[in-house]
Amino acid sequence: MKIKDLEFKKLFTEKELLKQTQVLAKEITQDYKGKQPLLLPVLNGSFIFAADLIRDLKLDPKVSFVKHASYSGTVSGGQLKSLIGLQESLFNQDVIILEDIVDTGLTVQKVIEEMVALGTRSVEVAALLFKKKASPPAYKPKYIGFEIPDHFVVGYGLDYDGHGRHFRDLWYTSDQSAA
Ligand code: 5GP
Repeated sequence: MKIKDLEFKKLFTEKELLKQTQVLAKEITQDYKGKQPLLLPVLNGSFIFAADLIRDLKLDPKVSFVKHASYSGTVSGGQLKSLIGLQESLFNQDVIILEDIVDTGLTVQKVIEEMVALGTRSVEVAALLFKKKASPPAYKPKYIGFEIPDHFVVGYGLDYDGHGRHFRDLWYTSDQSAA
């Protein structure tokens, strides 16, 4: 399949993605039994993964959609700098960040550090995809749907230059110019 200038091949079907999402939901349900975790899906890429995962949880979670700030402002005093949109207090919360993909782990690591400083009870990350790299990641999520080769992927919520978020399946290109 071609998107703009690049050729993409299928990595996982929607059925495979859903099956693995259910596995993650089961694991999270067991680990958080008796708790009310605060789920933070990080937009835009995680919206489909989050919708599927959350509906498979046998819990009563709180959900608040957030977004990475494109820059770190000078706001201080108990505020999260690297995410925007958060309405809830994080104090004493069991937070689960929902990410579409973790690559180097640097982005999510920074977010976790800020959350811990705000007094969370616990912070974990559930990522649908985790890229296998030659060098160790800055952070490896506890909950991972698939470990994938270091290729650029699109579909199931993830985009390539504004295209492809709506694809049901997940596609990859080995063309390095996509990243
Ligand atoms: P990290 O800080 O872990 O290196 O970067 C993670 C972010 O990079 C993800 O949240 C996502 O926005 C973007 N990203 C990394 N790899 C891919 C990819 O293969 N496809 C898409 N669409 N985004 C990616």
